[in-house]
Amino acid sequence: MASLGNPKNTIEILQRYHFNFQKKFGQNFLINANVLEEIIDAADIKKDDFVLEIGPGIGTMTQYLCEAAREVVAVEIDSNLIPILEDTLSAYDNVEVLNQDILKVDIVKLAKERNGGAPIKVVANLPYYITTPIIMALFESRVPIDSITIMVQKEVADRMQQEPGCKEYGALSLAVQYYAKPEIVVNVPPSYFMPQPKVGSAVIRLTRHEKPPVEVKSEKLLFQVIRASFNQRRKTLANGLNNYGAFSLGKEEIQACIEELGVSVNIRGEALSLEQFARLSNIIYDRQISE
Ligand code: SAM
Repeated sequence: MASLGNPKNTIEILQRYHFNFQKKFGQNFLINANVLEEIIDAADIKKDDFVLEIGPGIGTMTQYLCEAAREVVAVEIDSNLIPILEDTLSAYDNVEVLNQDILKVDIVKLAKERNGGAPIKVVANLPYYITTPIIMALFESRVPIDSITIMVQKEVADRMQQEPGCKEYGALSLAVQYYAKPEIVVNVPPSYFMPQPKVGSAVIRLTRHEKPPVEVKSEKLLFQVIRASFNQRRKTLANGLNNYGAFSLGKEEIQACIEELGVSVNIRGEALSLEQFARLSNIIYDRQISE
C-alpha cells in the first residue's frame, strides 16, 4: 500500500536514512495524499500503461504509480536517494529506478525497449530548476507520448496556457500548445511539500496532439522564428527577427515577410497567434529557398 503520502511516514524515512535535502536538485517532496491521488487520476493511468517518472525522490508518487500502471521507470539523479528507493519500493516488482540525469537519458530508446514504441505516459513532480528543458526535450526528441502530467511552478503552468496579448505569453506557451493541449488540474500550496517551496505550484496535464494544430514546412524554422520573436520582447517582431541572425534574409525582406502575413511591420511578436507564427515561418521558408 502507498504509505508515503502521510507526512509522518515521510519524516520517519528521512530520519532513518539521515537524508539531507539538496537545494541544487530542486528537492521538495510531496506530503499530501489527496493531491497525489488527484495527480494519478489526472494522468488516467491504466493497468497496461508504461509510465516514466522523473525525479521520484523517496518514492512517494512512485508507490501510487506502481499500483496503477503495468510498469514504471523512475529516473533519479541523486544517488543518496537510491538506497531509500530500494526500501520504499521493495513491495513492487513492476518498477526500475535509474540513477541518472533525465536530460541525458535516451527516452526514445527507453520507450522502444519497454513499451514497444507505443505512447508512454510521463508523470512527475518536476525539479523546478529544469522544468522547461525537460518539457522541451520530451517533445522535441519525438518520444511517443500520450500525456505528461506534472507538478510545476504555478507561474509556469499559467504561462503554458496563455494566449496572445497576455503578459506571460511567450515561447513556452507556443511550444507547449504546438505539441499538446494544456489543462491545469489543481493549484497546490507550498504547505503540501517538505521542505516548502517559496512559490505556489500547480499540476498541469499536457495531452499530446495526434497532429499539431498548424502545418509548417519546417518545425525547426518555426521554433527559430518563435525564439527570435521573444528573445528581445520589447523590440518589434521585424527587429527581433533581424537581430537574431539565423535567417538568410535582409531587414527589408523580413519586413516584406511580415507584410505578406497581413499585419503591421511594427507589430510585436507577443501579438501573434500560433497560427500566425506558423504562416510567417512558411513565408520565411519560401523566401529563403528562393534566395
Ligand atoms: N517525486 C518526489 C515527490 O513528489 O515527493 C520528489 C519531487 S522533487 C520536486 C524533484 C526530484 O527530482 C528530486 O528527487 C530530485 O533529486 C530529482 N531531480 C532533480 N534533477 C534531476 C535530474 N536532472 N534528473 C533526474 N532527477 C532529478
